[in-house]
Amino acid sequence: MTVYNFSAGPAALPLEVKKQIEAELYDWNGTGCSVMEVSHRSQEFIDMADENEALARELLNISNDYSVMLIPGGARLQYSMLPVNISSQQGSAIYAINGHWGKQAIKEAARFTQAVSTAPISNDVYADIPNYDVSGLNPKADYFHYTSNETLEGVQWHKLPQTNGLPLCCDMTSDLLTREFDVNDYSMIYASAQKNMGIAGITFVIMRRDMIGKSNNLIPTMTDYKTYADTRSFYNTPPTFPWYVMLLVLRWVKSQGGVAAIQRNNQLKSSTLYNYVDQSDFYLNKVAPDCRSEVNVPFWLADESLNQKFLTESSVANLKALKGHMAVGGMRASIYNAIPMSGIEALIAFMQEFERTHG
Ligand SMILES: *Cc1c(COP(=O)(O)O)cnc(C)c1O
Repeated sequence: MTVYNFSAGPAALPLEVKKQIEAELYDWNGTGCSVMEVSHRSQEFIDMADENEALARELLNISNDYSVMLIPGGARLQYSMLPVNISSQQGSAIYAINGHWGKQAIKEAARFTQAVSTAPISNDVYADIPNYDVSGLNPKADYFHYTSNETLEGVQWHKLPQTNGLPLCCDMTSDLLTREFDVNDYSMIYASAQKNMGIAGITFVIMRRDMIGKSNNLIPTMTDYKTYADTRSFYNTPPTFPWYVMLLVLRWVKSQGGVAAIQRNNQLKSSTLYNYVDQSDFYLNKVAPDCRSEVNVPFWLADESLNQKFLTESSVANLKALKGHMAVGGMRASIYNAIPMSGIEALIAFMQEFERTHG
């Protein structure tokens, strides 16, 4: 029986990608070795990196005004790398906060710049995106940062934030490659790979070239964007296996019809699940309809005393990792690109049966 893995990250990979990894494990590209065992300076690896960059640029429509980089250290490293490179202790930056990861981002940034949030930061679980007064934003701030999809709370931006012209920077870790957007609206975008772009170990960074190499701060070579831009991310030995998996995932996205087709599928998957939850009195979702996530769907049982039973029985039914993050509670189905519609159907069938037997 098929197992559906609703993990929020590291998350499910497309089956085709896992099969390809298996097929190439003992002989990658005629090298007689796995990709993990060849030099990153070898022609085979450089060709692979070239294809990866070209495909990422094609799928996301990234112009030559932008540098694309692969950086270790997770999205978390970007929380400090961004302010250290393009702001300073004397500078300032604006953060729109609507969930857990935005809170982590501003906390780290505050160590390196005057980081200001657009609205008071709440201790409650976010269920919408707080409004703010655009005219109140400091026009001298070095950048404006937000999290396009808050992975724990399932709160997603469906329009661009108003920045009054400030350079826009975005943590897209949980929704890059899941929907269409215009890179040209941004100065910088980053996503660690383990949600929709492969496996943990690398963070994909897109940055306007004119933002790179301008820092007046004394920064370690390994945390200077210029190092990655100038060497095409080949300064130190890069995480070669995650890089290779990213290419396989990009090829898979292309085979699915590209990001537009992926998005249509994600919208169908998420609306099917939300519609089911909304019509039920047994389950509920607390997020405002206009900012519900298309990739992380949190839901609660009206009777929370059934939570453990739900998790145990769903796992037995081969529906894995449905437990909500401890900061939010309840359940969460992360339905990233690799989860097919059949996974949503299996989940809903289980939820109906659980309601029938426990409701
Ligand atoms: C998972 C996640 C992170 C954390 O990524 P790391 O690679 O563990 O640093 C940051 N932001 C968002 C939106 C996430 O979903």
